Amino acid sequence: GCADSFPSFFAFMLFQKNNFLKAASHENGISRRLFLGYAAALYSIPTIGQTANIKHRMKFASNPFSLGVASGDSNSTSTVLWTRLAPEPLDPNGGMPNLAVPVKWRVSTDDNMKNIVASGQQLATPQLGHSVHVTVGQLKPDNWYWYQFSVNGEESVVGRTRTMPKKFASPEQMSFAFASCQSLEQGYFTAYDSMAQDELDLVFHLGDYIYEYTAGNQGTIRKHHGKEIESLSDYRVRHAQYKMDPLLQKMHARCPWFVTWDDHELDNNCADDISEQKNVKPVDFLIRRAAAYQAYYENMPLRRTSIPSGPSMQLYRKGSFGQLAEFTVLDGRQYRSNQPNNDVRSPINEAALNPGSTMLGREQRNWLKQSLIQSRGTWNIIAQQVMMGMVGTSNNKNSMNYSMDQWPGYTHERMDLLRFMEDRKISNPVVLTGDIHSNWANELRTDDRKMETPTVAAEFVGTSIASGGDGQDRIKNQDKLISDNPFIKFHNRQRGYVKCTLTQKTWTTDYMVADKVTTPDGKITKRTSLVLENGSSTIQQA
Ligand code: FE
Ligand code: CA
Repeated sequence: GCADSFPSFFAFMLFQKNNFLKAASHENGISRRLFLGYAAALYSIPTIGQTANIKHRMKFASNPFSLGVASGDSNSTSTVLWTRLAPEPLDPNGGMPNLAVPVKWRVSTDDNMKNIVASGQQLATPQLGHSVHVTVGQLKPDNWYWYQFSVNGEESVVGRTRTMPKKFASPEQMSFAFASCQSLEQGYFTAYDSMAQDELDLVFHLGDYIYEYTAGNQGTIRKHHGKEIESLSDYRVRHAQYKMDPLLQKMHARCPWFVTWDDHELDNNCADDISEQKNVKPVDFLIRRAAAYQAYYENMPLRRTSIPSGPSMQLYRKGSFGQLAEFTVLDGRQYRSNQPNNDVRSPINEAALNPGSTMLGREQRNWLKQSLIQSRGTWNIIAQQVMMGMVGTSNNKNSMNYSMDQWPGYTHERMDLLRFMEDRKISNPVVLTGDIHSNWANELRTDDRKMETPTVAAEFVGTSIASGGDGQDRIKNQDKLISDNPFIKFHNRQRGYVKCTLTQKTWTTDYMVADKVTTPDGKITKRTSLVLENGSSTIQQA
């Protein structure tokens, strides 16, 4: 039978939340640790649900695979296959009944799905938005595979994925793209159409996969559904709306992705339990965060280790492509302390230099350093959110202002990291960045204001897929920007994506830009190609 456990589950959670908030105010506030414990129990996701009776073949209003398929977080023997059943994607329940539904999956070595090497069945439960995350193991290293889902005779498209080479393998070449910031109200995802024609081993998504704002807040190219998202079903519907984009689906089906969030997957410029809006209590913001994180997990090809526990979710992780490259994927939002100087562009003053401020949190910072020391990779990729280059703009007080939401707001931790990479002679650190809807290539120093000191790492900042609209090649004050910040080797403000090709000897970065994204017929061309030689962080023109 079709029990009503789903609505009553949420009624129960709401009841618990109100009780908890009452208790919290009665206790005159409550410790953060205690709250996280409460919230984790409150939002714990039950995994047992009613299962659909397969004898009564469920009739869907339309193909339930409307959000496409994806894979991600591959290592040398396994990968994660993802889909989510949503015959009516903009419905809060995706048009699905309150039942767990068994979904079949199979993996093949050919694109006709003839030579099946793995198959199985997994329950898509209403508790996890009818998402499916299959961890397929015992695969061959350095191999391409195809996969497909089916339910009640309905089939998904066939996706393609791959495993990474073995840890000690020495692959000749690796190619990947990175992307960020895809406000669908501001443009079309033309970049993904071009990316899908590249032969790529993987994709990094560096955040702002969705935007949280109310419909029409950002533009009218395409319109967000509903008001600013706050509840679990709000976040689910917003993710579904983005996932409906055919070009995004096309690229997800091409190769494995390694995703991380920035701020807009939750709330603009958020930091840990602090909302952008000044009047929001941390307790309330953590409840919103639990909803945002759960919807994020449900909609991404992430491993089970990333299943959220209330407002906490393990997103930072690492991977490798044999000994050619190792990569860390960072979470710069969940553990960060509040932006200094009220998050207003400021000089690097005492607040920005505060040794207690952190973007990564102590645990993640230690893990990152440990990972870099242990790495066997020729190239050490740090895939993360915000710009590390200390880009200053002159203010009228004869000094420079810096973004407090980016790494300059956390200068102490930033310099500590760069100094660490220099002291420990980390092999070819390369930072990948999104967030600011523009292309940059920066040579990083421990202190970028001291050009006489040695470069330690290279940073490639990739522009947005769509956020910001068509953009422009050069800005008005471009020459002044570069002369004020001579470590910048390239800057451009068009939309697009970045493609990187690595060999043992060289790293090549291709900046792919769109002439326009405000109409669907934009053209992508290579704007410039930059090169690093193994052993040097000097950025050269190809
Ligand atoms: Fe953005
Ligand atoms: Ca951002």
